[in-house]
Amino acid sequence: MSDFLCVKGLAKVASLGLLAVFLVQACAVNPVTGRQDFVMMSEAQEIELGQAYHREILKQYARYDDEALQSYVNAVGQRLAKESHRGDLKFHFTVLDSPDVNAFALPGGYVYITRGIMAYLNSEAELAGVLGHEIGHVTARHSVRQQSTSAVTGLLGAIIAASAGIDPEAVNVLGTAIVRGYGREHELEADRLGAEYLGRLGYDPEHMIGVVRVLKNQELYEKARAEAEGREYTGYHGLFSTHPDNDKRLQEVIQAAKQHAGAVTQDENERGYKSQLEGMVFGSGEKEGVVRGQRFYHKPLNASITAPAGWSVLNQPQQLLFVSPEKDALIHVSLKNRGKNKTPQAFLRSMLGRAVEGQGETLSKAGMPGYSTTIVVEQTPFGRRPVRYVVWFKNEQTWLFASVAKELGGLDLYEPDIMGSVKSLRALTATEKTTVRPLRIQLLTADASTRYEALAQKFPAHDVTVQRLRLLNSDYPDQEPEPGQQLKIIQ
Ligand SMILES: [Zn+2]
Repeated sequence: MSDFLCVKGLAKVASLGLLAVFLVQACAVNPVTGRQDFVMMSEAQEIELGQAYHREILKQYARYDDEALQSYVNAVGQRLAKESHRGDLKFHFTVLDSPDVNAFALPGGYVYITRGIMAYLNSEAELAGVLGHEIGHVTARHSVRQQSTSAVTGLLGAIIAASAGIDPEAVNVLGTAIVRGYGREHELEADRLGAEYLGRLGYDPEHMIGVVRVLKNQELYEKARAEAEGREYTGYHGLFSTHPDNDKRLQEVIQAAKQHAGAVTQDENERGYKSQLEGMVFGSGEKEGVVRGQRFYHKPLNASITAPAGWSVLNQPQQLLFVSPEKDALIHVSLKNRGKNKTPQAFLRSMLGRAVEGQGETLSKAGMPGYSTTIVVEQTPFGRRPVRYVVWFKNEQTWLFASVAKELGGLDLYEPDIMGSVKSLRALTATEKTTVRPLRIQLLTADASTRYEALAQKFPAHDVTVQRLRLLNSDYPDQEPEPGQQLKIIQ
């Protein structure tokens, strides 16, 4: 933003007295451009805001429990941050225990990368590319520049609402706001800065294009799958998701970044990076529960549920969804707080805010009390529709199943499917407790005869297709492993 706007903004609010004092000190020089920014925030305020966000982030996403991996990522990040335009700012790098493919930065130097995105990267240079891009958002103060203080506060409110379980929809607010809040220009700028920091550290800035390629391919694949399963795809933010790797402007900013780079002195360090990934959880972790075929298993909750045959199973952080093949019916499964309610019927009555007597049905399964009722709900994904609610008291847990169909009368049509699934809730067997575990990344060195098709058959894992193996190893869409190539496989 230009000096002109900065001054104009100040003049406009000068009559507001105290506010003007706040703005004068906050009208800061941008670390990247060297120009004045009209940002309503000093660096101290920015750091304070970052700290507040950070606490909320760690309520939403767990920190990935692997100190060796955390300190490796932190070391790479700190080296890059030292080369950045805000070398004196204290940066914090955290690997989040999330299968989502994502990375983001908060004001004040907080940078996050998920284990989900790390699985698809293939070298330390690519990791540095992602971290450099996020550092670029921080050094250019994008979040501070783009969002007014009230927008930031509103976002924080939404995060708190989400973590309190108020509105499942709000869970995605964090992902869409921080992560999609930046426009195309800011994303390009972050890429240029990231490439520049890569170069200053001695890596080839071209690795930034490699990162874009890896993530673009991953996104195309996931998008196609999401489409086939009738759900919406929400991917990594900004440039990575909107630009092909041969984008002209991307090439231009990388070339511009090269002018600031010295000689390439650092190996991309494929082996070092991959050895860090060995044993890392892939896909759903234990706390999210794992899906095998039609069955969902959750070890900490000692629970298992089977989806109707042929339905898709979508395991999301706050909910479990089963979607019919025609996408015209869904079962939404969630855990609720029972409160003071002594019976499933009383729980449903207080949750729905109306009497459910006379129209419901008492259920029982292996000592588990349950209650079922159908009422008309104004806002379902299909509009005003009857919703079949079933609640089970499983020991201390309260499981709620809400089922709805697109067509009026669809609930009756799907009744056997829905109730079969609802009644499948049970504890894990002794065998399941030992065999159901999250998938992990393992390494395997290819020889002349190694083929992805054979690997996919030899190490079958849920959702790990031939094409996913190629994506994981930068061989998408049609390459085969080269002899001696160190491959990531999923077991
Ligand atoms: Zn970005």
